[in-house]
Amino acid sequence: MRILLVEDEKRMAQALCEILRLEKYEVDACFNGLDALDAIKSDIYDIIILDVMLPGVSGYEIARRVRSQGNNTPILMLTAKSELDDKVTGLDSGADDYLTKPFMVKELLARLRALGRRTLGTTDSVLSFGDIVLDTSNLMLSCIANAQSVRLSEKEYKILEYLISNSSQILTREQLAVKIWGFESDAEYNNVEVYMSFTRKKLAFIEAKTKIKAVRGVGYELRYENV
Ligand code: CA
Repeated sequence: MRILLVEDEKRMAQALCEILRLEKYEVDACFNGLDALDAIKSDIYDIIILDVMLPGVSGYEIARRVRSQGNNTPILMLTAKSELDDKVTGLDSGADDYLTKPFMVKELLARLRALGRRTLGTTDSVLSFGDIVLDTSNLMLSCIANAQSVRLSEKEYKILEYLISNSSQILTREQLAVKIWGFESDAEYNNVEVYMSFTRKKLAFIEAKTKIKAVRGVGYELRYENV
């Protein structure tokens, strides 16, 4: 689960990053609104924690722009207690939840778990390609032809979700590494290959005719080989 933390108070941001990493979240931090908008464009985050009072572009404005671009990533908005109308304005602008500063870490983590569940089990609850179906609510991969199914790990799920959502194109290892592991992770490209091979084994296990093909020197694509 990857989180983008947008918070201009650097000490607060650092402390939150440490806490979230201890909880096994992957976290990137942005300290102003413009950097945040750039980072959000990458579409690699599962949750955005968004402070309202930011230099440049406010948290409200960021939430509005993100939603107007059709991006539904869950947003948890952080507001100061003095900003009384913030709850309403925040939710109006497209935030999914809000938390009033100062807050208890326990409370923050509980909200994140709730939003995270929503991320994994959201909008299009079923994605399909060729003879495979991916159920986003429980990470189950099934083959339509023989009704066999298997549960995926979070990374395997993300790989297949990304490949299915972009099935008309070849995805490079770089795109996959950024999408699955994020910008600042130390994931090497061979991590991509390792997880590709796990994912292929799951496809083989359910005897799907949909395969992940490596396109030499370019990347990967899904192919349905009905022969
Ligand atoms: Ca602030």
